[in-house]
Formats: sequence, C-alpha cells, structure tokens
Amino acid sequence: MNMSEPLAFWGPRDRWTHADLDRRAGELAATLAGDPSPVLLWGHKQPELVAGMLAAHRAGRPYVPVDSAVPAERLMRIAAIARPGHVIAAQPLPVPRDLLCADPAPAAPGLAYILFTSGTTGDPKGVQIPLTALDHFVGWLRASQGFVPGGEVFLNQAPFHFDLSVMDLYGALRTGGTIFAVEREEIADPRRLFARLEGAPLTVWVSTPSFARLALAEAGFGSEMLPHLRRFLFCGEPLGADLSRALIARFPGCEVWNTYGPTEATVAVTLVRITADMADPLPVGRPAPGMDVWVSEQGELTIAGPQVGLGYLGSSPGGYFTLPDGRRAYRTGDLGHVGDDGLLYCDGRIDRQIKLHGYRLELEEIEGALRAQPGVADAAVVPVMRGGRPDHLVAFVVGGGEPVVLRAGLARCLPAYAIPRIFRQMAALPLTLNGKLDRRVLEDVVAR
Ligand code: AMP
Repeated sequence: MNMSEPLAFWGPRDRWTHADLDRRAGELAATLAGDPSPVLLWGHKQPELVAGMLAAHRAGRPYVPVDSAVPAERLMRIAAIARPGHVIAAQPLPVPRDLLCADPAPAAPGLAYILFTSGTTGDPKGVQIPLTALDHFVGWLRASQGFVPGGEVFLNQAPFHFDLSVMDLYGALRTGGTIFAVEREEIADPRRLFARLEGAPLTVWVSTPSFARLALAEAGFGSEMLPHLRRFLFCGEPLGADLSRALIARFPGCEVWNTYGPTEATVAVTLVRITADMADPLPVGRPAPGMDVWVSEQGELTIAGPQVGLGYLGSSPGGYFTLPDGRRAYRTGDLGHVGDDGLLYCDGRIDRQIKLHGYRLELEEIEGALRAQPGVADAAVVPVMRGGRPDHLVAFVVGGGEPVVLRAGLARCLPAYAIPRIFRQMAALPLTLNGKLDRRVLEDVVAR
C-alpha cells in the first residue's frame, strides 16, 4: 500500500488505496465473467466486499450484499430467492457455499444490485436496482452536495445490505474519496467508537438520525472531535428538529441535510438542507431532477422516474406499478403532504397511525414531546394491544426524571389520552442492524 495515495477504504483493520481496490476488483472480475447470475457478498464491511461490488459490475452481474450478522436461515432464504452462482465471502460462511449456489439463475440484465429488505409478511423481499437508477441517484447526490473530487471522507455507518450504505459507498467510489467504515463492535461500544472517530478526517457524515442521536450522547461529539466534517446526510427515518439543532450547535461549520426515499427507489429521491430556524415537522425536500414525487389522492407519497427499481425478485409487485406513460412508479406506504413552502413532508407510515379508544394518535408526536422533557435523551412509544386493538401506551425512555415528572411534563403539551400509562427506563433504545430504532424489540417486550 502506498500511503501517499488517498485511501478508498479505511476500516478498523484495513486500509486500501483506490489502486488496491482496483487491482482486487480486476482479479475478482476475471473469476466472475461469463455467468449472468447474481454474486452474493458475505461479510461485514471488509474492503474485499467493496472490491466484489466493483467486480460484479465489471462482469455485468448484480451483487447481493448480506451482512454476516444475518442469521444462517435468513441467508438461505435470500439465496433461494436471489439464486446466485458465485459467493464472495470475506468471513466464514455459516452454510456450505454449494447450498447457496445450488440453483443459479440469470439476473435481469443491467442490474447493479439486489437488496433484501424485510417484507411485511416476514419473508425478505429482493429489491432489484438497475445501474441506470444507481447512476441517477449518485449523479444527483454529487451535484447537490458538490463533493470535492478526491477530497471527501465518508462515514459508513450502515451495513452494506442496507441501502443507506449506497450513499456513502458510491459517494466515495465515484469521487475518488474515502469510505471510513465503523464496524458493529465499535458501534456497540461507544468508547471504542469515539476513540476511532476522535480526530478522524471525516468530511461527510452519513447515518440514520438514530445513530447521530447516539453520538450526541457523547459530550465530546462536536467539531473539535471531527474538525474536517462539513455535512451530515440523513436518510431512513424522520429527522427531528431537536437533533438537527443540536448538531448545528455542536458543529457550527456543518450543513445538515434531510434526504428521503425507500430502498425500492434507490436510497433517496428528495432532499433539503435543514437550518437551525426550522421546526418540527422538518421537510424531506424536493425531488431529484428527473424524478417525480407526489402525494396521491389517498395521501400517499408516490414516486416515478429512473430511480424506481425493477420490482421485487420473484415476488408480487407490492407498491410497484407502471404509469400510463410507461414510467416505473412506486407507492411508498408513507403519508405525505406538500407544505406552504412548496416542500414535501413525510408524515409517517400509513400503518403507524393508531386509534386509541377512538382517538387518533401519532406515536411520533408523543415521542417528540417526551424527547423535549428535561434530561430525556431518546424515547419510543409502543401501543399495547388487547383484542387486536391498542389498549394503552408504554413509553421507553432514555434519561429524564421519574414517571410522575414525565407524566406532568407531557400533560403540559399533550391531551390526556396521549399520555403513556407505563414508563420504562432504558440505558439505550434497541437499534436494528441498520441502525434504525428497532420497534419490534419494544413491541415484543410489551407483548410479554
Ligand atoms: P428503507 O427502505 O429502509 O430506506 O426505508 C424507507 C422508509 O424509511 C420510507 O418509506 C420512510 O418510511 C422512511 N424514511 C426514509 N427517509 C425518511 C425521512 N427522511 N424522513 C422520514 N421517514 C423516512
């Protein structure tokens, strides 16, 4: 490795230059030629996997990234749907390679990758994203952010099977920049994480809002720790004004951007810069040029244009459909509206609105009110079901005062029916592998 070259990949163990990556991609591409089936990538944030992505593209095949935190059974189900003919494993496989490649099938031509998201039915769904969609997304991101060629270092928080990682991976790969990957063991151990971040030359922070909230809990997290940081790019969850304001206060020289989109339409399709004067709810912005994002008559955010994927592999179309003019389109399942400012707003999932004893409630609203209480670092509210209907609410709270204090605080800003019956203190809220709040864990706790 030549240390004078800019790094392409910087992990806790590995540092690869762009030349290293290019060489390895070339070697791998030679082994992938002549077979149109997908290439399965197995591991956790190794540079070998990034080389595998580039190699798959060179060989005209899509890759299917699966993080090694994924249980063996789920890996098998993914392989049964994706039908890869080749596996690049940067870590030991939990099942025999032959089993994963038992029944290879040609992928649709022109695919960049197939990402598996959780389906509502419990079976993973393989989202097929063409290279043209990826190019459109990355081209727009670059144009909107003005990344400095060869000069950007991107935080990689999300595992590679989560499409948020596409933002930092390709942000770096397409601008000659650096992927600064933090591993799950580091994320699970704040002391290690901050030791690694201290003084790191990050210029672009890409994460879920939940992950940034976790970082904010560290008093030293600010521009002294990351003196080169210039922008925060968020996607994947609602961004709260309390979070954006806190970040702007700790990083006065940084821009905060909210981006919105589902995996099905290639990472993000709208964006907006968030300033300190903006209050909740924050907008998700304007569509990328060439993309249409509108609110349907049912109030659902709907997307059309070149970033919309080719549908789920071997599965029903779900929200995908074709417009009369032939363009691919996708119904997101998100409620939205256009504000007086002309910007799009995402108003939550169609399926997270609840009726509690006849009252219509937005759980996000209660969570926001809890987070505004003194000392509360984070909060999540989960309905407890009885007879198939929400019966009462449980609040999971990180920090803050006794329940009686929290209750009194909420009573000042919420109607009585919106105040949770039970308050549970937690050291931290559970996150999914992708760094989002894991509501399912909390729902399991209250269901017990
Ligand atoms: P995923 O496919 O995992 O990226 O999840 C997509 C979903 O995350 C969207 O349909 C939204 O429900 C949610 N989402 C993504 N970005 C945002 C955002 N900026 N604000 C609110 N929700 C978001």
